Amino acid sequence: LKAIVFDGRNSHFATDLPKPLPEPGESLIQVELAAICNTDREILKGYRPDYRGVLGHEFVGIVRESPDPSLLNRRVVGEINLTCGLCLYCSSGRPHHCIERRALGINDKNGAFAGYLTLPTSLLHPVDEALPAEKAVFCEPLAAALRITEQVEFAPGTPVALLGDGRLALMICQSLAATQDVDLTVFGRHPEKLALFSPYAKTFGAIDTEDTFEVVVDATGNPASLSDAIALTRSEGTLVLKSTYAEKAHIDISMVVVREIRMIGSRCGPFKPALELLQTGKVDLPPLTCFAPEDFKKAMESKTFKAALDFRS
Ligand SMILES: [Zn+2]
Ligand SMILES: [Zn+2]
Repeated sequence: LKAIVFDGRNSHFATDLPKPLPEPGESLIQVELAAICNTDREILKGYRPDYRGVLGHEFVGIVRESPDPSLLNRRVVGEINLTCGLCLYCSSGRPHHCIERRALGINDKNGAFAGYLTLPTSLLHPVDEALPAEKAVFCEPLAAALRITEQVEFAPGTPVALLGDGRLALMICQSLAATQDVDLTVFGRHPEKLALFSPYAKTFGAIDTEDTFEVVVDATGNPASLSDAIALTRSEGTLVLKSTYAEKAHIDISMVVVREIRMIGSRCGPFKPALELLQTGKVDLPPLTCFAPEDFKKAMESKTFKAALDFRS
């Protein structure tokens, strides 16, 4: 099996991995495409030094073995959090925070940068025939973008600032525009990337902290932007944090206390509405750039909108 394996410090391309064996309740999925995410880059920088195994968590593939016969040979996407179903969090509607949580390609579960993967069948979502693999693979990050809409209630016309002009920011921008009545402003450093946001939001290259917003979403992937994010948030407003970093952030936390800012961490989100947005074309992202799994290093360095490893041949 071709796979990209992380040893705690480095990653390498392997060809000798055995096909994984599904545990009880799991399905075996033949990976078609597995997309590279910033989290993968952060793992290589030291964000998850305890992780060993196959990287990758954004995938689309075909079910080859399953306890659910209706899924056989269907194209699926999959949620990435494996949960125990019994702990404090699982039994109180917060399974994404399961104490025993394992996560595909991130924590104690071999990931999607491989010819095959296994996942609990309950985490799989069949994809409409009409939706190509190249679009379906955006489901996981788009679900993460939609998590904001589960955590924040947006009154009509709410002024919202989005910091960042990368992949996740574009998914947040499009999903907010498609599902909420908000007044959206995007701040980014790259004019060529900002152009992708202009159909959905006002865009600015520089931050002017004279303007403030009821809701600010930080999706820059850079801890240095947090001071700006706090300054842009109105007192008693909400700051949503979408980025994880290997480094620590330095912020004036007293500002958050005095100005009574609500800070919300935001991670994985709902797959069903994400698939729906892709299937109805309400969210339409720039094309993927596909690489052979052998060219993993090149794919990691790619500056295109989204790079993916193609395991189909
Ligand atoms: Zn991801
Ligand atoms: Zn649990």
